[in-house]
Amino acid sequence: MKTLTRFTALFFFLCFFNLTLAQEIQIMPIEHASAVLTAQNKTLFVDPVGEASWYENYHKPDLILITDIHWDHFSPKTLGAIMGEHTKIIAPQAVADKMTPALLDKTLVLHNGDTTRILDIDITAIPMYNLREEALDFHPKGRGNGYVIEWLGKKLYFSGDTEDIPEMRALQQIDVAFVCMNLPYTMRETAAASAVLEFAPKAVYPYHYRGKPNVSDVTLFRSIVKNANSEIQIIQLDWYPRDSY
Ligand code: ZN
Repeated sequence: MKTLTRFTALFFFLCFFNLTLAQEIQIMPIEHASAVLTAQNKTLFVDPVGEASWYENYHKPDLILITDIHWDHFSPKTLGAIMGEHTKIIAPQAVADKMTPALLDKTLVLHNGDTTRILDIDITAIPMYNLREEALDFHPKGRGNGYVIEWLGKKLYFSGDTEDIPEMRALQQIDVAFVCMNLPYTMRETAAASAVLEFAPKAVYPYHYRGKPNVSDVTLFRSIVKNANSEIQIIQLDWYPRDSY
């Protein structure tokens, strides 16, 4: 009986342990807007660009999310080098239009507002665009996709290149938000902080905050958010390990 009790306790411990592990999503910054996320033996790449060697420590991606056509988000050469046999890509139409037939064959196009479920991950394409008059041509509304993904009970948001648009401010119950902030292409730290305070994610990862000649002041972003809502966790990762920006 005692042995059985111990066995039962061990069984429940292992179940709990596995559950805890299952809910862990590991987030690895690659550079600027490129990231690798892993959980439960699945590997997700976001906007993979740059050298194939930057990704060689990770498994072949099961899924790749691409936000927009620009070189810091979409590289057919990088994709060609890092794709696995079973890799699937999600991208906006404008990105699909620039793909090789081989890449296109692996791609599902999502337009702003579209949703899909793939590999047990729920994915919604969120608009991303500029608001400032002088910046409207950088990211016209409807071309690129930000993404909200629901994975293992967590809701993650990738802003893509955007300003503090109403669609971002209206996001609900985001656990983890990746938010861009650089001029002239996206938005000021103050606009990013204002939007983050409005949709109040549990945690925010500032990313995409350098771009020649401007480097955004992430410390300013942090202090505005922290002073107004200390419950929002701000997580600073090393998005520029090569000093190439
Ligand atoms: Zn960008």
